[in-house]
Amino acid sequence: MRHDAHGFWIAEAGSPDVLAPLTGDHRADVVVVGGGYTGLWTAWHVLAAEPDADVVVLEGGRCGHGPSGRNGGFVSSMDLSAPALRRAYGDADAQAWLAAARETVDALGAWCEAERVDAWYRRGGELCVRTAPAQGRVAAEAVDGERVLGQSAAEARARCASPVFGDGVFVRAVATVHPARLAFGLRERLLARGARIFEGSRAVGMRPVPAGIAVRTARGEVRAATAVLAVNASTGTLAPLRNRLTVSSSHILCTEPVPDVLEALGWDGGEAISDARSLLHYTRTTRDGRILFGWAGGRMAAGARSRGRMEVDRQVVEQIRRDLVRFFPQLEGRRMAHAWGGPIDVSPTHRPAIVGLPALSAWAAFGFTGNGVGPAHLFGRTLAALALDRRDGVTRLPFVDPPPRRVPPEPLRIAGAAVIRRALVRKEAAEEAGRRPDAISAGLATLPGLLGLHVVR
Ligand SMILES: Cc1cc2nc3c(=O)[nH]c(=O)nc-3n(C[C@H](O)[C@H](O)[C@H](O)COP(=O)(O)OP(=O)(O)OC[C@H]3O[C@@H](n4cnc5c(N)ncnc54)[C@H](O)[C@@H]3O)c2cc1C
Repeated sequence: MRHDAHGFWIAEAGSPDVLAPLTGDHRADVVVVGGGYTGLWTAWHVLAAEPDADVVVLEGGRCGHGPSGRNGGFVSSMDLSAPALRRAYGDADAQAWLAAARETVDALGAWCEAERVDAWYRRGGELCVRTAPAQGRVAAEAVDGERVLGQSAAEARARCASPVFGDGVFVRAVATVHPARLAFGLRERLLARGARIFEGSRAVGMRPVPAGIAVRTARGEVRAATAVLAVNASTGTLAPLRNRLTVSSSHILCTEPVPDVLEALGWDGGEAISDARSLLHYTRTTRDGRILFGWAGGRMAAGARSRGRMEVDRQVVEQIRRDLVRFFPQLEGRRMAHAWGGPIDVSPTHRPAIVGLPALSAWAAFGFTGNGVGPAHLFGRTLAALALDRRDGVTRLPFVDPPPRRVPPEPLRIAGAAVIRRALVRKEAAEEAGRRPDAISAGLATLPGLLGLHVVR
């Protein structure tokens, strides 16, 4: 098996050949900047609605080599965020978003089947468990009518017999995928549909032109009626959106195949599992019998930088290895096949948004906050409708042009975020060890709430 510099498992899916960069001047109906799920689904939905449309995708590196190809593969509905959505938008709008998010989980599976993309889609639901008494409130708050079932600790452990699992909730409308297989499959199907995708084509400038917008790369330019900006953690490099995000990181470990451990745990239902921390752990099985285990507690990045320790942080990986064995003691001494990380576009509301930039004839989508696999499909559908100026039910959902929420400017942002992150790490580790968190960490951990920033789902 081949792997790249990060050692991530996309090599298993067979990394496709690189596409040529943009050179010269081009015209298109829609130009999409960013070849992750959001950009690729946008292109897909534009072509689904308008098969003759001329769609250009500009990807700075290679499609699917960002977080879209190397995430945990949880295809989540928004059910675990239901209470927060209701508080923010009221019942009717929250319900509309929740229903669309649930439909998306199924739509993704149906797409894989119809397009014969073997992305290892499995609809096994998500178990969100308490691994310390202090997490109880979060899990209980997430209960959402018939969609989510309360689980006693015994019921949770019947799904997966981890000694750290307490009670929790079970959300039905969640699936898992192999992220790179999905991203590469989508890229391939788009090429077959006639989208023009240019890799190694970072957008370095945008300007309004009479018929819309011109997007420039190092060696070429595309003029289009509308642009869709889907650059995730790099959104802060776009001047009008500079202070809309904080960038943090998440890391993942993937074991060698461990069918014996899965059998001992009784973990055979394909459930995605997360704990109810703010800096949550997330874990799942894979079709080839591995356990994938991630932690959303990686370091924060200054500005929109997303290299270095955002990508691979040895210290964080070592911490995750210890947590993995605490969750599943049978893994002591077993080989870890891969470890990798990636940037997370953390929105101050914990919810993603689509924002119109009328002066540029552009729409931008960002702020998935570690939950983008399912939502990017819904956002792609919405962005396509907006780009084609065909308003419908999805374009009226409350994530389109919500009231702007900003984060403090740099260097204040990185200083504050790093202090709060460290406090949360200490507080949640103490809670899990059955200790009382120290007063300073506990106090600092309440700061985001006092500042109106939302750090839990
Ligand atoms: C370790 C990790 C685990 C995760 N686990 C999950 C999970 O289990 N479930 C879940 O729902 N979400 C998860 N996420 C989040 C999820 O991966 C993202 O929300 C989702 O992939 C976002 O898709 P995107 O297309 O918006 O962004 P990306 O995949 O980041 O794509 C953006 C693309 O834009 C390109 N780009 C940037 N700047 C430019 C430019 N100027 N010009 C051209 N191209 C540019 C980048 O190269 C990149 O390919 C995880 C993220 C990480 C890092």
